[in-house]
Amino acid sequence: MKIILLGPPGAGKGTLAHLIKERFGICPIATGDILRDAMKSGSPIGQKVKKYVESGELVPDEVVTAIIENKLMTDKNIEKGYMLDGFPRTKPQAEELDRILERINRPLDCAVYMEVSLPVIIQRLTGRRVCRECGDLFHVTNKPPHQSGRCDECGGEIYQRPDDNEETIRTRMDVYLKNTAPVIGYYRSLGKLQEVDGSRDSRELLNDLVDGLNERKRTNQDKIR
Ligand code: AMP
Repeated sequence: MKIILLGPPGAGKGTLAHLIKERFGICPIATGDILRDAMKSGSPIGQKVKKYVESGELVPDEVVTAIIENKLMTDKNIEKGYMLDGFPRTKPQAEELDRILERINRPLDCAVYMEVSLPVIIQRLTGRRVCRECGDLFHVTNKPPHQSGRCDECGGEIYQRPDDNEETIRTRMDVYLKNTAPVIGYYRSLGKLQEVDGSRDSRELLNDLVDGLNERKRTNQDKIR
């Protein structure tokens, strides 16, 4: 499986990525997580990107593209496939990604576009909680942890991302509509867009996605014959 997860913040990309990892053993490559780790370590890249990440603005294209290129060129697990979460977020990033994938000879199966409405996004993100250790996702009402403040998986501390507040969520939505919506058009024009309803149960959504990927494979094989 070689896919990109696209959609507004709160569309459920992280939850779907978790299920895909469970079922197919493919680890998500999430630029947001990589940037937050860099910030935590205080590395030069971390210091450079802090102001963007904290305000919900996009980190410059060349910084995130270099991170993804390095990851795709060196990750041994890439043989199994890949799943990009949060990248590309602009059309130049999408075009650069095409060049990288061509170089490593790992063409994309499809870009999965998860669509959800703004009220659902705000409800999901303001209540979202994340494990500091393993990144597992919780929600104050939809999926509370069994033990308050502690991760069900690893017992790590659960926290609220500082950019999951209503004001920053609105900035992230504006940024998404301005920069990332054209990325959807880009993959649609290449015939590589797989649209799914992000408000559905994530397990049903994964089944739909797998069916869609198999259908694509069959159509491509018919074209070759
Ligand atoms: P996420 O965890 O995907 O919601 O990303 C958190 C923040 O990281 C975003 O609001 C951006 O500031 C930054 N970021 C993540 N991925 C990218 C990207 N592909 N391009 C630019 N900025 C990004």
